[in-house]
Amino acid sequence: MNILINNGIILPMNASNEDKPYFNGYVGIEGERIAFVSSNPDEAKAFLAKHKDDCTQIDASGKVVMPGLINTHTHVAMALLRGISDDVPLMEWLEQHIWPIEGKMGYQEVYDGARLGILEMLMGGTTTFVDMYPYEEAIAEAAESAGIRAVVSPCPMDFRMEHFENDWRQVKKRFSGSRLVTMWMGPHAVYTLSGEHLQRSISLSKELGVGSHVHLAETQTEQDNCMAQHGMSPTEYLEKEGMFSTKTLAAHCVVMSDHDIEILARHGVSVAHNPQSNMKLASGIAPVRKMLDAGINVAIGTDGASSNNDLDMWEEMRTASLLQKVATMDPCAIPAYTALQMATVNGAKAIGREGKLGVLAAGAFADILLVDIEKAHLYPHTNLISELVYSTHASDVDTVIVNGKIVVRNRKCLSMNAAEVCATAQKQIDTLMSK
Ligand SMILES: [Zn+2]
Repeated sequence: MNILINNGIILPMNASNEDKPYFNGYVGIEGERIAFVSSNPDEAKAFLAKHKDDCTQIDASGKVVMPGLINTHTHVAMALLRGISDDVPLMEWLEQHIWPIEGKMGYQEVYDGARLGILEMLMGGTTTFVDMYPYEEAIAEAAESAGIRAVVSPCPMDFRMEHFENDWRQVKKRFSGSRLVTMWMGPHAVYTLSGEHLQRSISLSKELGVGSHVHLAETQTEQDNCMAQHGMSPTEYLEKEGMFSTKTLAAHCVVMSDHDIEILARHGVSVAHNPQSNMKLASGIAPVRKMLDAGINVAIGTDGASSNNDLDMWEEMRTASLLQKVATMDPCAIPAYTALQMATVNGAKAIGREGKLGVLAAGAFADILLVDIEKAHLYPHTNLISELVYSTHASDVDTVIVNGKIVVRNRKCLSMNAAEVCATAQKQIDTLMSK
C-alpha cells in the first residue's frame, strides 16, 4: 500500500535549525517505509504518477504531520488495573494492592488489558511502546493484531524464574518474523531479583543479543535497601554485575548521585523518564537536566496506567518539561523542542532504532501521526512547537499510521473495535475484583 500525505505542516524531528523545524509539504509512503518528505509539490506529483493505481491520499490541511510517539516504559496490561488503588506509597501499592490482583491475572486477562492500553495509545498517537510484564506473549499478540509497534520484555522475577527462560525462548521464536514486535529481556529491578537470577538474565541478553529493560533507582527506599544489602547504589550494583555491557534502558532513575549519572553516561545507558508516575507515587523528581547535560539519552515513558493513570504521551511531555523547570527553578531546563525530541528521536535511540523510528525521513519506517490543530485551545498559531508540547491533548490526534498502515483515521480506530475492547476490559476487572 502507498500513501501520499498532502498539504500538511511537516515536523520531521531531524531539523538542524530548531528555530523553525517545520515546513508546509508532503510525505510519501511506499509499503512500510517513508519514500520522501518534501516541500516540493513536484515530488508529490511524481510520486502520484508512479503509484497512480495504488495510492491512498490524505489531505493534511490544518494538521501537523510528525513521527509517531515512542512510549519507552509501560506495563500496558495494567490499563486493566486503572484506578483500583491510588494515593498510597510504592511498596504498599505493589505489595498490598497490585501484586495480589496481578497474581489472579492469566494470559487472557493480560491480553484484554493490553488491548485496552494499546487502543488508548494508538488513539493518542503512540506508535511504539516498550513493555515489561509477565505473559508478554499475550501483549505481543495484542500488539501485532492491533498494528502497533512493541518492544516486549518478559520479566524474570525471583518467584517466577522457574519457567521464565523456556517461555522467553518460545515467545522469541513465535515472533521472530514479526514486523512490529521485538523481544528484550525485562529484569524487573534490583529489589526483585537475586544476584543469581540477575546474572542469568544478563547472560541470556548477551547470548541472544537483545537489550535489557530494567527499573532503576525509582525510590529512596530502593536506594537505602541496596546500600544496606550491597553497600552500593542500585546503579553501582548493576554496573558491578555487568548489566551495562549489554544495551540497557533504565526506567525512572530518580535517586541518582553524580557518580550514578557518570556510570550511565559512560556505558551509554538510556533512561526512560516517567514524571507522572514518579509524582503520583511520590518517588521524587529525576535529575533529567543533569542527565541530559552528562550526555545521557533520556526518553519518556508513561509507566503503567495504574500509576499515572493514563498512557497519554502528550501529558507526559508537558509534565517532563514543567516538572524540570520547577525542580531546577530554571524555565529553560527542558524547552518544548527538547521534550518533543525525548518522545520521538530519543525514544528511537533508546531501543536501538535511531534514524529508523522517531523521524520523518526517506527510508525510515512509516510511523506517522497527524495532529488536528484547528481547535480553540491551539489557536492562535504563533509557535507550533509550543502548541504541541504545552497545549495539545491526545484527543487532538486525528490519524495514525504504523509501519505504513493506517490504524486511526478521523479519530476512529480501524484496527480494533473500541466499544468491544472497553466492554471486555470492564468485564475482566469486574470478575477479577469479585474473586
Ligand atoms: Zn514500571
